[in-house]
Amino acid sequence: MKSYRQLQIEITTCCNFNCFYCAGRDMEQRHMDYGLLLSLIRKTEKGGGVHLQGEGEPMLYPRLGSAVDEIIAQGCRPFLITNGSCLDIDLVLNKFPELGISLDTLDPELASENGRYDLPRVLSNLEGLLQAGYPPSNIVIFTTAFGQPTADLTPYLASRGIHKHVVQPLQQKEDYRYRYPEKAMPPQEQYPVLSCHFISREGRRFYNVDGVEMPCCYIKNAARFVSIDHIKRSFAESIVPESCRGCRYLSRKRR
Ligand code: SF4
Ligand code: SF4
Repeated sequence: MKSYRQLQIEITTCCNFNCFYCAGRDMEQRHMDYGLLLSLIRKTEKGGGVHLQGEGEPMLYPRLGSAVDEIIAQGCRPFLITNGSCLDIDLVLNKFPELGISLDTLDPELASENGRYDLPRVLSNLEGLLQAGYPPSNIVIFTTAFGQPTADLTPYLASRGIHKHVVQPLQQKEDYRYRYPEKAMPPQEQYPVLSCHFISREGRRFYNVDGVEMPCCYIKNAARFVSIDHIKRSFAESIVPESCRGCRYLSRKRR
């Protein structure tokens, strides 16, 4: 069986939030079959990482604790990105060497307007995690930038000793942008770079909630995805496959 250095697994598409930019809100709401999840975890190389993420809230997965135990038993490192609203502090403290939390704003009204309900609970869970002794250096904050003021986030995080802060622009891929036409950039016509490291390097894979193997977590419309080899061939022929249209990785300079 082929194994990978890093797997990203979409264990659920269910979420208790309703972010306006989330493609998962239009997907069928369900959890990944547990047997399927175990079989995917076993594809990870010893010492590799298993990221539980996708278009749903991983803390809602009913057998999350057992799945994490399997990852650790396999000699791998678990990681997940949570919206922070239903944080299992004991699980994180005992099992996660690093944790991602999504946080777009410190303004509770703006958060609610954008579908991230109950910001006070998210912040209180974050504070609770730190008070329980989780190292702030093990926390990565992910912010989606959609034009909101974010200047207060950096000092807030720094005051808690959190310095890993990833700010991502709104996705312009067709799979996502249909949800926010008023914020979308004009459709991309020119693609200066026809390669991306998800395709050129073999070490990582994403599995969606149905267990479909894909090169990255950005392909949300699985119906447009043919195969990883098809993407490779298309790139070689200077064609942008439908599954990759609008992807920002195709605008980046080759490194
Ligand atoms: S918290 Fe994450 S999964 Fe939930 S709606 Fe927002 S972006 Fe989607
Ligand atoms: S969607 Fe983007 S990151 Fe994924 S394979 Fe296509 S170009 Fe690469």
